[in-house]
Amino acid sequence: MNIQANLFEVALGIKEPLYIKNISFDEEHGELHIHVDFSRGSKFACPVCGKEECAVHDTVDKVWRHLNFFQYKCYIHFRNPKIKCDVCGVRQFAPFKNVEITFDKIHVIKQLNEAIDEIRRTETAVNPCLKGSRYIWLKNPEHLAARQRKDLKTLSKENRKLAKAYQMKLTLQDVYRTVWDHRVADVSFQKWLSWAVRSRLSPIKRFAKRVKSHYAGIMQFFKSRLTAGISEGTNSRIQEIKRRSKGFRNINYFISMIYLEASNLLLPTYT
Ligand SMILES: [Zn+2]
Repeated sequence: MNIQANLFEVALGIKEPLYIKNISFDEEHGELHIHVDFSRGSKFACPVCGKEECAVHDTVDKVWRHLNFFQYKCYIHFRNPKIKCDVCGVRQFAPFKNVEITFDKIHVIKQLNEAIDEIRRTETAVNPCLKGSRYIWLKNPEHLAARQRKDLKTLSKENRKLAKAYQMKLTLQDVYRTVWDHRVADVSFQKWLSWAVRSRLSPIKRFAKRVKSHYAGIMQFFKSRLTAGISEGTNSRIQEIKRRSKGFRNINYFISMIYLEASNLLLPTYT
């Protein structure tokens, strides 16, 4: 339990006096439930004025939907305290408010890939030479074999719509790769969105609409990039472990494996 709890405390950024009391896994529904509590007698800073050492007034049981840990839906349960501040009165302590709305890079790029694949399917109907090219458009040039790169070049000349959509994806990925400041991310995304809206590619326009409706969450990713980087790095390690240990049945075994594999990554960031 301690090992698992440690892993998730780091991944979720849970700090004292908060701790993970229990993790349960609902295999049937593919859900991970993480129960967070705080030590008895803990005092908290006032969320409004910052006054330290405020006593707990009462608690409310709350549940947050966190980003998935792979296909597992992740829920955080917390006995959420209200604190009593001498200056501000009774106020709710809110440690998880940002976690639930972050919309990360993996989800954004995945949806963009789906839009590109939709264009490819439509275009293949009128241009059969695109047949069998699905993976070429889903991958980045640096991950393609020499022959595939050549095909990419030829096919890009053959179909300007797909070439444009592909170029748009590379541009958006560059924003994620290079931008660390949310104000710069905002400017870059706005530029990209106006390009998308003018693209005359319906799946791309629909994607742009989805980006706009999740805009705050997408920007939140850049605001909490450091934290996101930790859990994202953890997530990619987890994915790799899961791929290698096909057919594990026991979540404890799985989580212990993750911990062992990810400890190199996690320990230096754990303070
Ligand atoms: Zn206060």
